[in-house]
Amino acid sequence: MEQKQGNARLVLKFVRESPLSRAELSRKTGLTRAAITGIVDSLVSEGLLREGTTEKTSMGRRPTMLELVPEAYYSVGIDIARDGVRLCVLDFTMQAVFERFWGNEIESETVLFEMGETVRTLKKQYRFLGAGVVSPGPVDSVNGKILEPDGLDAWHNFSIDKLSGLLELDVILQKDTAALAIAEKRFIGADKSFLVLLADHGLGSGFIYKGELFESAFGFGSEIGHISIDLNGEKCSCGNRGCAELYASIPSALKAARAFKPDIIWSELAQSDDDRYRKILKKQAEALALVCVNAINMLEPEVIVLEGDLCLGYELFKENIESIISERCFTKAGRGVKIISSVLGQNARAFSAANLVYEKYFGR
Ligand SMILES: [Zn+2]
Repeated sequence: MEQKQGNARLVLKFVRESPLSRAELSRKTGLTRAAITGIVDSLVSEGLLREGTTEKTSMGRRPTMLELVPEAYYSVGIDIARDGVRLCVLDFTMQAVFERFWGNEIESETVLFEMGETVRTLKKQYRFLGAGVVSPGPVDSVNGKILEPDGLDAWHNFSIDKLSGLLELDVILQKDTAALAIAEKRFIGADKSFLVLLADHGLGSGFIYKGELFESAFGFGSEIGHISIDLNGEKCSCGNRGCAELYASIPSALKAARAFKPDIIWSELAQSDDDRYRKILKKQAEALALVCVNAINMLEPEVIVLEGDLCLGYELFKENIESIISERCFTKAGRGVKIISSVLGQNARAFSAANLVYEKYFGR
């Protein structure tokens, strides 16, 4: 029975990556055509799979392609961030069908209450598999607890058991950067090794090694922002000196730019043609590049993905970071590592939270 369910999940997992014919499924899973027919028939009758478009082959025949039924299941994604809390609902094919935002002026108890009401109402319409939550680190993902992230006082020591009771759903918690890295797998490749870099308040990262999230012994993940890039640099709140996030984070770039314009915001700075601002961004890129060089020498990612607000300055960052990487990495392969921009879009964090539920459901 368990084997049968395992094979059904495997079929769903492959179809999730792209619509496939029965013959392709048989080839990919190593199961016989007869076995595939049996599994597909039961998945179709359960309402999880459906026959979609037909595709022309070189032989001229047109096999029927199978695809996921968008309405089969839904997942709730909750992004607990410094500017507020975002909730989104994704259907079985990862399309957003509902979104809501609570600004950080609203008390966390009110947010939780309204979130419960919202999900209860949505349950009349949608069949949920569960909910995923992301938060800036440090996060204890093993025990489901947000620890004490900077600037997120209202959520310090929040346990997701409370949320699980409120939503009456299974809830998974993950650090934002780790969840973003997991979500990128669908676009970069299921068995690739890559690093995501998120610069906001500080500088965070998530590392996927051959398709699996790298998790440290204590479950905190990699604190890449606290790699020192200046032996005699400024003292950091962590106790170290010259930490990368003192030079590579968004507040650090804004602090420098505000000498010229006190009310400048990141979107303006990141996309400005003004030489004074370009100089600041280049310095920020240099700090990011040193982090990348260290990461490449240590972890050998195949590609590095810029997440969140960093994407706004992508062209400049890419050019400057890749140029430093090409000169300073140890191996030839390392010197060729490319910087790409996330394709997860505006609601990347809530999207990556909802994706955690599907990752668990489909299996890795
Ligand atoms: Zn530090």
